[in-house]
Amino acid sequence: MTQPKYVLSGLKPTGRVHLGNYFGAIKNWVELQEQYPCYYFIADWHALTANYADPTVVEQWTFDAAADFIAAGLDTQRTVLFVQSEVKEHAELHLLLSMITPLPWLERVPTVKDVQAQEEATLNTYGFLGYPLLMTADVIIYRATYVPIGVDQAAHLEISREISRRFNNFYGDIFPEPQALFTPTPKVPGLDGQKMSKSYGNTIPLTATADEIRALVMTMFTDPNRVRRKDPGNPDICNLFQFHKLFSDDATIARVDHECRTAQIGCVDDKKLLADIMIEKLRPIRERREQIDRDPSIVWDALRDGNRRARERAQETMELVRQGMKVHYRQLR
Ligand code: SF4
Repeated sequence: MTQPKYVLSGLKPTGRVHLGNYFGAIKNWVELQEQYPCYYFIADWHALTANYADPTVVEQWTFDAAADFIAAGLDTQRTVLFVQSEVKEHAELHLLLSMITPLPWLERVPTVKDVQAQEEATLNTYGFLGYPLLMTADVIIYRATYVPIGVDQAAHLEISREISRRFNNFYGDIFPEPQALFTPTPKVPGLDGQKMSKSYGNTIPLTATADEIRALVMTMFTDPNRVRRKDPGNPDICNLFQFHKLFSDDATIARVDHECRTAQIGCVDDKKLLADIMIEKLRPIRERREQIDRDPSIVWDALRDGNRRARERAQETMELVRQGMKVHYRQLR
């Protein structure tokens, strides 16, 4: 019998899940459930790399992430949704992998440079350098075949593949090399046109209320050259128009494109139109989140069950790893 191919992915909790997270990852996660057994986790240990000095927010962020994933359509009967820190085997594998990983492999990972450039917190820590290694442990401990990523993240998976190969060379074939599952991820700009990211303060929460959406859309950057209402605009360089492409139907996109170029629609009216469309499109997700907030046990029960199922698979893997690395004392059991 052929082994099922597992999908594995995680998200570092940073607060309310935003539209960049949704279109960049979670929407794909929901779709992948139809094709594969999936393991998705909330990477709360990774959240500590930047928030170690004041971790009080991490627990709330973890809850918010799980609640928003479920609201967005993760089916936790089928899919294993869990919290990284509740599966201690990740830490054990991280430690064991640290014995075999050459230091320069970690130092050259592009994420390390990117994050160091972005984050304000002092990230000159051992944990931060080991961050790609913990990520590797997160993936390979489930012997996952596929990791859904955008094309721009391909380099980030490479170190996991290299470490799996190195491990297998020393200790036998235990880990499949994780493969990138390239999923279409549209570019999601923030309110200001930069990439949507919590660190830029330009996000729209996935479960924003109607009032929040209206207020945030009003602050969106538009075509910077369209100064007066009677000036024709150019949707190609308008940040707001990118959101029409994500949320509006083809007829609306074509109409706004035309009416903008001919100055028939003003930016304020277009903002109102977009806000109404977004409110409607996001309504089912927002309503599910409201239901969860009335009964948070929906999240805790799902996570308890997910943690247990994740642990089972991680423990199976660790038995093989311990045997391979000769830290498996049968006589002492
Ligand atoms: S009318 Fe719409 S698409 Fe055109 S510049 Fe204004 S906000 Fe952008």
